[in-house]
Amino acid sequence: MLAAPPIGVVFHMNKKQKKWLKRILLALAIFFTVMALDEFGVLAGIFGEPGALYASFALYLIPYLIAGHDVLLKAWRNIRRGEAFDESFLMAVATIGAFAMIFFPDTEPHMAEGAAVMLFYQVGELFQSYAVGKSRKSIAAMMDIAPDYANIERDGALVQVDPDEVQIGDIIVIKPGERVPIDGIVVDGASQLDTAALTGESVPRRADEGDEVISGCINMTGVLRVRTTKLFGASTVSRILELVENASEKKAHTENFITRFARVYTPIVTFAALAIAIIPPLMGMGTWPDWILRGLTFLVVSCPCALVISVPLSFFGGIGGASKLGILVKGSNYLEALSEVDTVVFDKTGTLTNGTFNVVAIHAEGGVDPDYMLSMAAHAEAFSDHPIAVSIKEAYDGVIEQGRVEQAAEESGHGVAATIDGREVLVGNDKLMAAHDVSWNDCKITGTILHVAIDGSYAGHIVIADVVKDDAEQAISDLHAAGVERCIMLTGDRDEVAHAVAKQLGLDEYHAQLLPGDKVEQVERILETARGNLAFVGDGINDAPVLTRADVGIAMGAMGSDAAIEAADIVLMDDKPSNIARAIRVARKTMRIVHQNIVFAIGVKVLILALAAVGIANMWLAVFGDVGVAVIAILNAMRAMSVKRD
Ligand code: ADP
Ligand code: MG
Repeated sequence: MLAAPPIGVVFHMNKKQKKWLKRILLALAIFFTVMALDEFGVLAGIFGEPGALYASFALYLIPYLIAGHDVLLKAWRNIRRGEAFDESFLMAVATIGAFAMIFFPDTEPHMAEGAAVMLFYQVGELFQSYAVGKSRKSIAAMMDIAPDYANIERDGALVQVDPDEVQIGDIIVIKPGERVPIDGIVVDGASQLDTAALTGESVPRRADEGDEVISGCINMTGVLRVRTTKLFGASTVSRILELVENASEKKAHTENFITRFARVYTPIVTFAALAIAIIPPLMGMGTWPDWILRGLTFLVVSCPCALVISVPLSFFGGIGGASKLGILVKGSNYLEALSEVDTVVFDKTGTLTNGTFNVVAIHAEGGVDPDYMLSMAAHAEAFSDHPIAVSIKEAYDGVIEQGRVEQAAEESGHGVAATIDGREVLVGNDKLMAAHDVSWNDCKITGTILHVAIDGSYAGHIVIADVVKDDAEQAISDLHAAGVERCIMLTGDRDEVAHAVAKQLGLDEYHAQLLPGDKVEQVERILETARGNLAFVGDGINDAPVLTRADVGIAMGAMGSDAAIEAADIVLMDDKPSNIARAIRVARKTMRIVHQNIVFAIGVKVLILALAAVGIANMWLAVFGDVGVAVIAILNAMRAMSVKRD
């Protein structure tokens, strides 16, 4: 026959929890033995009366101390630090009080209850610790993306080094099955990358020579040689880990409320219990032991553990659940804010559209050679990371010789100005031309128009077009279905392009031709009329100010700029706008669970408190009420962690 594995193994407890469990089980076994001896009169048979009473007192103390000595110590330490009135204090007073009832020899003894309260309190605590550990693990599983080493080539041989030691520009080798340790660009090889841990996306992504790979993905099929573009500390993996580690510091209002609530609540119930124990007997309304016992019962029920633990745990679960979908939430306050979003404002380029522009037409004017114009434009964009710049460089066949670019300045929302081969080149929209007093010609083709001026005279324009993301339309309709009233697009692009995109996606409103500063103004204007919260979604190239201004700032993570990921409250790792509606659903579910737990826990407590005050509830009911409510609330909280992709 197979032996059953111990519970601690089945439930994947850690060492400390396993020891704790053993202690509780031992105490429970002794407790029930003593109880049996007591109930069946064995003690009375041996010790006679009243010897049996003292014997059972001593015997019940054993499981009590085995299970609860740490609680008593903690209560004592807190009192000495002047921080009484926490859970361990309530439990210590209630249980010591129950044992002390022996000083009223005329009444029933209550040692069994005293020991039981401590035992079941510890059962609840262990369960709590297990639940917290488990939800932490779900985040850790997502966080299991930290690489331990990087392979670099030294004297022709591969050596494993600490990722921290790798410099920017070093070549690292990633074998199949290994995790990409540092962000970089593939210089040799091709492979499939599993990005599920980062993005929640199960379809592998292909990486060929020249493609960017981000750390945290798993290399599945081929050997990749990658030139690193960042230090380990600045790579995607390190940034994500940092975000998640800091998430618990940003607390939701609800969470802060519960903490404050517990801080005033515990002293109040303690004094209420004292009043129940003292006042009625002083007024001659019954016996001392009766009322003292009611006061003690009151103390047991009033323990706020269910609330204190289940509310943060629910938020924790929500954050963990979201991270399974590739949605990083930087704190529970943002989850709370997200649940009340009724307006979503989008940036266009890189957010609703792919941000990879194709060149549609090149119209050179005044005898300028179109190839020369494209080459000048590509060189002018040499140092820009803007999606437009990246696409123009892509469209240019030749090599970009950075040495020819003497000076290059990006004018946010306008374009770039650069000196190439001694000639002044401007590449950007009509605002840029106007700002430099260059007259330009419009174009009939729909698309984003890049005007080019060389040495102050107009050279023509390049028309480029961006494609909307596959799931952009779905994203907008999902948001509408989720009750978001307004989906608005803000863009620095031309009105025609904006109009076409807005119509295609079913947006409620759009505003075009905006400079980054105008976007902040627009958001402030929209904020005034929004009833709920406003979320801004951007890819972050020059969106950071707007991201900060919105109630909830959401950034596209994989493609977005570092500044945006810093400024954002929520990061979508897979760049999919459809994840916004999912994030809102997770946030709302989390808030529902939080509210259920608050109402349920307080409701049951108030009921048992009332019963205890009038003497209907005894200590047994109180302890089961307390532990039961805690367990149910924790189980409910853990639901926040389970999310479906749809
Ligand atoms: P969006 O709001 O669509 O994300 P941006 O605010 O980033 O757009 O840019 C607005 C406009 O400014 C672009 O449509 C383009 O005309 C011009 N622009 C911005 N950066 C550049 C650049 N590096 N090169 C050329 N044009 C640019
Ligand atoms: Mg942008």
